[in-house]
Amino acid sequence: MTRRIAIDGPSGAGKSTVGYALAQRIDATFVDTGLMYRALTLAAIERGIDVNDGAALGRSVGQCRIEVERALPEHVDRLETVLLDGRDVTIDVRQPRVDQQVSAVSRHAAVRDAMLPVQREAAERGDSVMVGRDIGTVILPDATLKVYLTAGAEVRAARRAAEMGALERYESYLAEILERDAADSGRSIAPLRIPDGALVLDTGVLDVEACVEAIVARLEVGD
Ligand code: C5P
Repeated sequence: MTRRIAIDGPSGAGKSTVGYALAQRIDATFVDTGLMYRALTLAAIERGIDVNDGAALGRSVGQCRIEVERALPEHVDRLETVLLDGRDVTIDVRQPRVDQQVSAVSRHAAVRDAMLPVQREAAERGDSVMVGRDIGTVILPDATLKVYLTAGAEVRAARRAAEMGALERYESYLAEILERDAADSGRSIAPLRIPDGALVLDTGVLDVEACVEAIVARLEVGD
């Protein structure tokens, strides 16, 4: 039986780190849907598409080619490579201008409708671990297991500051995280929420290994 694990949670909760480690452990494909929204946001910025124009953004999902691939071994700085029309934009999609605009882009129904088949198809190829905000609730409602990763905003901001080597920017990371949490949880379409029946893990308390162990234990019970 194909196993699909949905991992949702707010920004900086450690979804990618835990999801990637889990995928390696159970030999599944890892798919970070946040990268898809980020690549679309970069395309919109570069093409001058207004982030309030949902219809134009929805159309651009079909007009640009967004591909998320496994990183090459020499790319030690990343878990995956994201291509926009064949161009490697993995570094560009982490720019502050993308961070600031991505929630505005992802809130539109036309954007989410266009992304849904692309993401479902990515989970059709075999065992997969997919991370995002609405994976357990909308994209994979029949997932084998739904996980919700969370941590306090202060923990997530401190982690982000340490990752970026910019401890002096803690306050601005905290403000940005709170803003993105509010936007992602408060939107009317596919808001971030805990899926029914999800395994909820606090990454402020559990480290990566402990999260992976808890998820694998739950998967084995379900087998
Ligand atoms: O996970 P990451 O922080 O890279 O996601 C960037 C943004 O993309 C989120 O803040 C959210 O607005 C959007 N997103 C989403 N649905 C997903 C994944 C990401 O709306 N499944």
